[in-house]
Amino acid sequence: MTFAIKVENLCKQYGDHHAVNDISFAVERGTLFAFLGANGAGKSTTIEILCTLLKKSSGNVTINNFKLDVSNHNADIRKSIGVVFQQSLLDDRLTVQENILHRGRTYGLSKTQLAENYQFVSSYLHLEDIEKQKYGTLSGGQKRRADIARALIHRPTILFLDEPTTGLDPQTRQLVWQAIKQLQLETNMTVFLTTHYMEEAAVAHQVLVLKEGKIVAQGTPDALKTKYAYDSMAVVFNNPLDGVKWLEEHAITYTEKQEIYTIRLESTLQALSLLKKAEPLIASFEVIKGTMDDVFLHIMAEEDVA
Ligand code: ATP
Repeated sequence: MTFAIKVENLCKQYGDHHAVNDISFAVERGTLFAFLGANGAGKSTTIEILCTLLKKSSGNVTINNFKLDVSNHNADIRKSIGVVFQQSLLDDRLTVQENILHRGRTYGLSKTQLAENYQFVSSYLHLEDIEKQKYGTLSGGQKRRADIARALIHRPTILFLDEPTTGLDPQTRQLVWQAIKQLQLETNMTVFLTTHYMEEAAVAHQVLVLKEGKIVAQGTPDALKTKYAYDSMAVVFNNPLDGVKWLEEHAITYTEKQEIYTIRLESTLQALSLLKKAEPLIASFEVIKGTMDDVFLHIMAEEDVA
């Protein structure tokens, strides 16, 4: 297994405050890594350190085999990564194409290389319809596409995205997200992402959850769902009194809201046997799969930081 990012015992302190408190993790090359946490958990601080924009207090970080803060490796790290922050860095007065080409020149790319790279980013981010437009006149979703294109013009192997779809309407969010996923899959790029949207985290290869500067959960979405979420079944009974009697006779625990009875399942299949037994009593039912939202809420509700 080769790692694009390796973080060991990373700490960042502001006075007495531990914004990042002794975290260690690794990101496998060519994967999508979701970095989650509530507001103030330390996500942006960590990303800024990994991108060489903020000094760590202690710990070791290796990006693309370059060691952070060791000799002149930070410049090599910057050349090998692309970064999209919540605040855009493009110039409102220039067109999208001018902005991106200008950025490419700062990397010292030859004319041919720049043209080739521009073609590449344009095809993934669908820039054809906006490339001649001034950045300042674009919609939120169009700006995001341009921001990502700018971060990719030197063809980095790791892309850092800090909440890339926040503030976009659902349809635009979907389009931007599709472009990120396609890019990651087709070019085998490593994507390190912070997001507040759990459906985005659900398709990541690995998810890490940060709370108050510490790692509180880590694993594949499936493993986290198995540990922190559960499937359930919502049932409406023909006669609620008979239904409750049946549930209590079978020692099935449930919650009730407006005569909808929700039963926690050990697995989705358990719904089948319950339905078979209670069929004559049931007016309607729905089996609800555990989600990454449940995972996140469960982890955040836990008192102790592991
Ligand atoms: P969000 O989801 O809101 O962006 P985050 O997880 O990215 O939050 P950070 O911005 O990394 O969180 O902040 C982590 C903690 O460090 C917070 O408690 C924040 O107040 C604190 N912090 C960040 N920058 C500084 C600073 N320059 N000086 C003092 N404290 C800081």
